[in-house]
Amino acid sequence: MSKPEILAVAKLPPYLIEPLREIFVVHEQIHQTDPAAFAAAAGRIRAIVGSGESKVPRSLMAQLPALEMISIMGVGYDGVDVTAALERNIRVTHTPGVLNDDVADLAIGLMLSVARRIPQADQYVRSGRWPEGPMPLARKVSGERLGIVGLGRIGQAIATRAEAFGMSVAYTARSRKAELPYAYYPSAQALAAEVDFLVLITPGGAGTRKLINADVLKALGPQGYLINVARGSVVDEAALVEALQQGVIAGAALDVFENEPVVPSALWTLDNVVLAPHIGSATRQTRGAMADLAASNLRAHFAGEPLLTPVPECQ
Ligand code: NAP
Repeated sequence: MSKPEILAVAKLPPYLIEPLREIFVVHEQIHQTDPAAFAAAAGRIRAIVGSGESKVPRSLMAQLPALEMISIMGVGYDGVDVTAALERNIRVTHTPGVLNDDVADLAIGLMLSVARRIPQADQYVRSGRWPEGPMPLARKVSGERLGIVGLGRIGQAIATRAEAFGMSVAYTARSRKAELPYAYYPSAQALAAEVDFLVLITPGGAGTRKLINADVLKALGPQGYLINVARGSVVDEAALVEALQQGVIAGAALDVFENEPVVPSALWTLDNVVLAPHIGSATRQTRGAMADLAASNLRAHFAGEPLLTPVPECQ
């Protein structure tokens, strides 16, 4: 029997692609690089595999009449037009859970980095300035007030880590979690007004677009720090740049940006900012687990077995 054909819509790692090649014919990004090959194969492509940053718009699905499933190696699937997929009964899967630890670790690491100025401290030593005297004092994290925007799987992993730092934890989400011991605020703005560090860990997409605007940043205030490990779209980036330049907030640590991999040049030059290139889940262990889960979902679909981790809309 011939192997089913699938389209990789992103540059995916060999530890995902190689095992897939054993059971599928994998077309790598031919929709972008080779229109003739894509036109020839489009009618036979039965699945898409992509990363959390991949775009799978309605227009791409429309060119794939045999498409049955989309497997995303990532928990965020805001690049997939799920409405268009549901209309054609195309099933969508993602990789929740296996990356909670890494993303939570990074959120805490970024919070410490921006408050304790760890990147600047490294530069201080490397540039030979230590003999001239000590660095200016930084900001304490332990015991401070943490606000989490989005208290889902990863948000809760951040909360338990923050508890070990003696931080008080409060949150906002679409719904109150009565079973959890943290204070709930009905909006990001109300939460921001009550905390020292505001960590964002919601999904991207239309529901959270520019949730963090100039008013929220003003509420966070000149002693407050913003940490974004969610999606760049959750923040009004222009308002954030202005708030950082004007001292409306104390600083920001950002793993995600509105137009990745492009980072506004204004952010490069600011001293109260720590920048990372979307590395929340980027460890060998976790990326391996994500790849295994993305591949297992594909195998399950083609074996006629239940999907392991369909997105909520497909459950
Ligand atoms: P999850 O378990 O689905 O949790 C999402 C949380 O966001 C939930 O608490 C949800 O509220 C809340 N939320 C959704 N819409 C909201 C809104 N409009 N306002 C306020 N809160 C809202 O997801 P997860 O597994 O924790 O992952 C969260 C996100 O992290 C992903 O979707 C992805 O965007 C991001 N992420 C980033 C990286 C990275 O590399 N930086 C890696 C992995 C994930 P309810 O609980 O009330 O539904």
